[in-house]
Amino acid sequence: MNIILLGPPGAGKGTQARRLVEDRNMVQLSTGDMLREARTSGTEMGKIVADVMDRGNLVTDEIVIGLIRERLTSGENGGGYIFDGFPRTLAQADALGNLLSELNETLDAVIEMRVDDEALVSRITARSTCAACGEVYNDLTKPIPADGTCSNCGGTEFTRRADDNEDSLRIRLMAYYKQTSPLIGYYYAKGDLSSVNGLGEIDEVGAEIAAALG
Ligand code: AMP
Repeated sequence: MNIILLGPPGAGKGTQARRLVEDRNMVQLSTGDMLREARTSGTEMGKIVADVMDRGNLVTDEIVIGLIRERLTSGENGGGYIFDGFPRTLAQADALGNLLSELNETLDAVIEMRVDDEALVSRITARSTCAACGEVYNDLTKPIPADGTCSNCGGTEFTRRADDNEDSLRIRLMAYYKQTSPLIGYYYAKGDLSSVNGLGEIDEVGAEIAAALG
């Protein structure tokens, strides 16, 4: 089963993708994570994307489609792929459709995670991540345990993303509404779309996604 998690920054795509990896042995393909890795690699591409990402704009279709193509053709997909943060434009959606059919794979579901803007701002500005395993914490709703260790892996270092600030978020939200939200109609028309309320507790949202996936 190959699925897309679609939603604005802070909707909980990464958190739900990690659950699906654990529960269903799926493979998470997060273009955001791939780009963050690329930017620390010191390569030419890394330098270009770092600046674009920090400002909150979208990296070019060519770069992200290239990253996804590389991962899809490397062959390891376990219980299927979860596309997290990809596609984000109509051109990326078309490219994904073509790539999957080249590989004789299908797209089985697109889950739209709906969250209002106010909740996104408070989620994102309170977000931190375990540097060792990527577990996501939130100062308000899921604080780092009092002993300062990650409940998932015991790690003690936590980071905040450079683009998790109000200025970048405003631009990221604009990019979502202008460039990514047309994908809701695109996948609805193909009959692939299910929508879930992304505002609930992590388990509640997880249950809604599980129900949508059947
Ligand atoms: P994310 O971790 O998904 O919030 O992505 C962080 C940043 O990486 C975004 O604000 C974009 O700058 C860039 N990015 C991630 N995925 C894509 C994509 N599919 N297309 C273009 N830019 C992307």
